[in-house]
Amino acid sequence: MAFELPPLPYDYDALEPHIDEQTMRVHHDKHHQAYVDNANAALEGTPLADKPVEHVLTNLETLPDDKQAAVRNNAGGHVNHSLFWEIMGPDGGGEPSGRLADAINDLWGGLDELKKAMNDNGVKRFGSGWTWLVHDGTGLALYSTPNQDSPLLNDDFAILGIDVWEHAYYLKYQNRRPDYLEAWWSVVNWDAVAKNFDRAVAELGAPAT
Ligand code: MN
Repeated sequence: MAFELPPLPYDYDALEPHIDEQTMRVHHDKHHQAYVDNANAALEGTPLADKPVEHVLTNLETLPDDKQAAVRNNAGGHVNHSLFWEIMGPDGGGEPSGRLADAINDLWGGLDELKKAMNDNGVKRFGSGWTWLVHDGTGLALYSTPNQDSPLLNDDFAILGIDVWEHAYYLKYQNRRPDYLEAWWSVVNWDAVAKNFDRAVAELGAPAT
């Protein structure tokens, strides 16, 4: 089945005042829809059409050369945004608990340090991209990617990713990406992030500390 836009799991205004309703409408209904439509168009008639997005992004080299960039960008945009909506929520913020909290404390010394490092990676990403917390097969790692490059391209499991494209924040924050990143942690859904962490551990093993 071709990719489909997943419904936003809360109202467009649910993340106010940190992320405004208009941004959410345009971001979900227009930008994410465009990634879905463009990915489907690029994949049509190829052996990867109707394959899961994870399979598509880890097998890009099997596509014709003239399709690879469009699929990398748009299937990447689809999988990245599908994760992004899920890890935000109206009752967000606070702190993680359980194994995820333990892993963060072991590796970074605390949540504030993790936030600082992720925000710093996001601020330093020139142009458009994402700042990530991933499981890289041996442990948890932080990095940013350009454009819509997914951690799947590195064979990594995305646990938490923050969109730093201007379309994610410009209406409310204009050029102030650091202010957006600071505010973003007020909408993070730690339960959803913890589920991603648990899935990563199930697939790749407990992270080394
Ligand atoms: Mn986006």
